[in-house]
Amino acid sequence: MDRVGLILVLEAGLSSPLRNRVRDRLRELGAQVRVVDGGERTYLEVSGQDLAIRTLHPQSWPGVSHVLPLTPPHPHASRRSDSDSERAVPVSVATGSGEAVSVGGDDLVVIGGPCSIEDEGRTIALAHELRDAGCGLFRGGAYKPRTSPYAFQGLEEEGLRILAQVREETGMGVVTEVMDSADLPKVVEIADLLQVGSRNMQNFSLLKRLGSVDKPVLLKRGYASTVEELLLAAEYILSGGNHRVILCERGIRDVAGSSQVILDLGAVPELRLRSHLPILVDPSHGSGAAHRVAPLARAATAVGADGLLIEVHNDPTRALSDGQQALTIEQFRRTMDEIAAIHRALPATARDIASREAETGAFPGIVATPGKD
Ligand code: PEP
Ligand code: MN
Repeated sequence: MDRVGLILVLEAGLSSPLRNRVRDRLRELGAQVRVVDGGERTYLEVSGQDLAIRTLHPQSWPGVSHVLPLTPPHPHASRRSDSDSERAVPVSVATGSGEAVSVGGDDLVVIGGPCSIEDEGRTIALAHELRDAGCGLFRGGAYKPRTSPYAFQGLEEEGLRILAQVREETGMGVVTEVMDSADLPKVVEIADLLQVGSRNMQNFSLLKRLGSVDKPVLLKRGYASTVEELLLAAEYILSGGNHRVILCERGIRDVAGSSQVILDLGAVPELRLRSHLPILVDPSHGSGAAHRVAPLARAATAVGADGLLIEVHNDPTRALSDGQQALTIEQFRRTMDEIAAIHRALPATARDIASREAETGAFPGIVATPGKD
């Protein structure tokens, strides 16, 4: 098991008996401790076995002012500080044509399709249109997480069968959501990329099971989750042995708790700085309204996303879910042209880590927990 470390800054003027109590408690818990006199403050250098150290919670101990972990809480999801690459490490997604799509490489990857798979004929016709417009991957929900139990819940196994048909007939790769661990074997059999939806980002038992699956996972940010929580969710999958995780920013609820969604485009450079995982943006769920999708898709491209997830429908007015945010195929083609032009115009460094922040911000891998003073 790996060794990890942290630094404990003690409260100013702490008496020696109290300081020794903190030190002795750490030693009893199996940690190695070195006491350093830092002038005004004393601090303790603590190291030990990964699990023992990570389960300590010294920030709540009397006499402890700050805790500085020296190892990130999500080592697998974090960008290695010794990595010479400034980009994402690409994740490969298989397709029906035999030619894999690389997410996180030089090309902007656009995943298009309806919110829900509704009917075979229209789904296949749409998939052909999307492929011809430049999509290598087709998305569509078979198991739908709906706010109301009375809303359309998806075609389930029939939806998966239609997706398999899309793959076969168009050569595209197919992306669909797995909502429940119980459905995982069926979804794994069909999907080239397994989507974990916003509501399930913290379904830890599902995430653990995805850790041992041999298919890439598209992990959407919970709509009330921080980027740190997204990285910890990714860590569940990565630490289980599945290294193919793609992150997706899909909008968060605003502070007033209205139904308005705010697409957090600042999450893209933030995640780029902290992690090597590819980052997609979903301007459809991130806006909730068709007229906002193209502008936000353009912005997401400019901000350096590795790709986009866009909902498209043959006839949005008849969609059984999320019709209000679906683009028509004509709107989608126009959006593709616009984002392709933006992507071409971006300087080669635009998807690198913002290196100035890396130099002037916190040291990579060190996350300071808020102090008590
Ligand atoms: C979807 O992609 O159709 C979906 C339900 O997305 P989210 O989980 O982001 O709400
Ligand atoms: Mn949807």
